Amino acid sequence: MGVLKLTLFHVAPVSGSASAIFYKQVERGNAFLRPHNLRFDVYPVAGSLDLDWHEPLSSNGRVGEGLAQRLALRMAANSRYYSNDNRLPVILCQINGGGGEAPGSIGQKLDWLPWVVLDAYTLNNDGLTMTHEAGHCAGLKHPGFSDLSEPRLMVGDQAMTDNIMAYGTFDMETQKFGGRTLIEPWQVDAYRTAYFHSP
Ligand SMILES: [Zn+2]
Repeated sequence: MGVLKLTLFHVAPVSGSASAIFYKQVERGNAFLRPHNLRFDVYPVAGSLDLDWHEPLSSNGRVGEGLAQRLALRMAANSRYYSNDNRLPVILCQINGGGGEAPGSIGQKLDWLPWVVLDAYTLNNDGLTMTHEAGHCAGLKHPGFSDLSEPRLMVGDQAMTDNIMAYGTFDMETQKFGGRTLIEPWQVDAYRTAYFHSP
């Protein structure tokens, strides 16, 4: 069984919900990955490390103030806990516009190895947002035909929406995205060659 080593952090305003959110993200991720002989190895074993950070991140993290905020938050996490065993930092916080991000991954070279930021209020119901963002940190891309996307996740001109690197299938009736259930063998290989993987 290979492990994907994570260090979990949360910012002060989301401290009340952090342990329940991380519990679900780890459990669902492990249920998804376990058939492929992978699981998360988290530090700390229960809960997450607190960061004295209060401001929401602005929506565009790739330039200007939004990028500066993400780098500052990454630095704060590094000051709070550093280990030299190549763990992937996952920071639960507030992001204007919501969702999850993997700064320093696909098409973005920063001074840090890729890491994950998650908005505490808008995570996908399937509990696999952390697994998806860890996928970006392992070099995996969304379905599509651009330089920054993955043609192997397209069938004709349709994206494989139930793949872990997509967003689930949108249900018109409930106006929600369904759960993701699929992973390709070459995607498993990518997790296995990520910097935060350990055999
Ligand atoms: Zn993504």
